[in-house]
Amino acid sequence: MKNEMKTAVIGAGASGIMAAVTAAKYGAEVTLFESSQRVGKKILATGNGKCNLGNLNFSMEQYYCEDQEKLHKMFRVFSVWDAMAFFESIGLMIKNKNGYLYPYSEQASAVLDVLRMELDRMKVEVITETRIVGAIYHSEKGEFELQDAQGKNYSFSRVVIACGSPASLKKGEGMTGYELSAGFGHDIRPVAPGLVQLESDESFTKALAGVRCQAKVRLLVDGEEMASEAGELQFTEYGISGIPVFQFSRIAGYALKEGRDVSVMADFFPDQEDKVFAYMNRLRYETQMDKTLEEYLTGMLHKKINMVMIKQAGLKPDMKAKEAGYRKIAELMENCRSLNIHISGEHGVENAQVCAGGVNIAQVSTELESSMIKGLYFAGEILDVDGKCGGYNLQWAWTSGYIAGRNAAGSSTREIAETKEDMLPKDDRKC
Ligand SMILES: Cc1cc2nc3c(=O)[nH]c(=O)nc-3n(C[C@H](O)[C@H](O)[C@H](O)COP(=O)(O)OP(=O)(O)OC[C@H]3O[C@@H](n4cnc5c(N)ncnc54)[C@H](O)[C@@H]3O)c2cc1C
Repeated sequence: MKNEMKTAVIGAGASGIMAAVTAAKYGAEVTLFESSQRVGKKILATGNGKCNLGNLNFSMEQYYCEDQEKLHKMFRVFSVWDAMAFFESIGLMIKNKNGYLYPYSEQASAVLDVLRMELDRMKVEVITETRIVGAIYHSEKGEFELQDAQGKNYSFSRVVIACGSPASLKKGEGMTGYELSAGFGHDIRPVAPGLVQLESDESFTKALAGVRCQAKVRLLVDGEEMASEAGELQFTEYGISGIPVFQFSRIAGYALKEGRDVSVMADFFPDQEDKVFAYMNRLRYETQMDKTLEEYLTGMLHKKINMVMIKQAGLKPDMKAKEAGYRKIAELMENCRSLNIHISGEHGVENAQVCAGGVNIAQVSTELESSMIKGLYFAGEILDVDGKCGGYNLQWAWTSGYIAGRNAAGSSTREIAETKEDMLPKDDRKC
């Protein structure tokens, strides 16, 4: 039975679809607008086509948000476990890979398919190829008037803006959500790539293009360590990539914007304890000193890294190790633990997985309702909340979509946010 909350959801990405099915479940009559030909396009690209839809290793440190307390309350309302239960209830089997959650089939399309079926089942009206370009609130009637790019008007009593961010889109695209929000008087925090590759002006990154290796990477801003990550580092023509780089790219980007000096220090022996490493080097020198430097390093790191390290040390590959001498060799080995990669920029919003910035969280309630316009809600990446790699951004899309949708339908989540004990149950439920 409909509760007569005629609700529009603008944007059929992860958060918009979640908002639409939830609002419908709580009795609203829902219309979902999508500017593209198909709903949920970005979902298909997630997790390299496998869709890392959440993570059991959940903590608030995985998120950037200016109001962590408010965010924490929202994750209490709809946690990782709630997301799993939701997906299982609509037919998706979930695979847990060390806490990283994927559809059992490891096909992102499976996630989108079950969501689409749910949109059908909940009788959500889906209108694709329709970009909403104008929105006004008539306070006297308590009614929203939306206008699409063809000039057609629509009326609703509730609106959820879930237009995402420009991440991974062509330059200049993906801004209408911010424009609509700003039109309602909302402050938009500066939008910048959140998870993105970093560009370097070092010539050696070109020589290393294509190399992937395990490394510990430290982000230095004006020489001070700001973050440290470990994992697969990838070298590219323009600089560096890989999950460890993505994780701190946001901090690097903001520092670059402030004109600060940014570099990344790479340790290519991340698992070697210092003393053992020094001892091993001494032994290696004693047994391998008759070899050329190229031969000496062979069998340790990637060949291309070896050559760069020799060059960086001002040595020649055909020089004998014993000619260089132990001290110089020890220095060379130490340099392999601290290669400095100067960072000249971020690799552009069109290559980013998410964007930082967006609708200021201070101007929405824990129910994701605008503090300025009653009946206006937000969900997903359009808000000034972004997470690290690992399923945390989709988790935010499910959580915020659920909250915005349910409240838009008139079912408040305020009490749950205040009283639910925490975001994770204490039992060690497995999946
Ligand atoms: C390559 C890639 C891989 C990723 N992998 C992962 C991953 O594995 N795990 C993870 O957690 N996160 C991942 N992310 C991030 C995650 O996909 C996003 O954070 C999430 O999809 C955001 O959902 P959203 O609904 O807020 O926005 P979007 O998914 O961007 O949806 C917004 C929708 O609104 C539509 N729209 C915009 N403006 C209008 C308008 N005016 N009128 C009508 N429609 C409009 C858009 O066309 C779009 O369909 C990845 C992102 C990318 C790009």
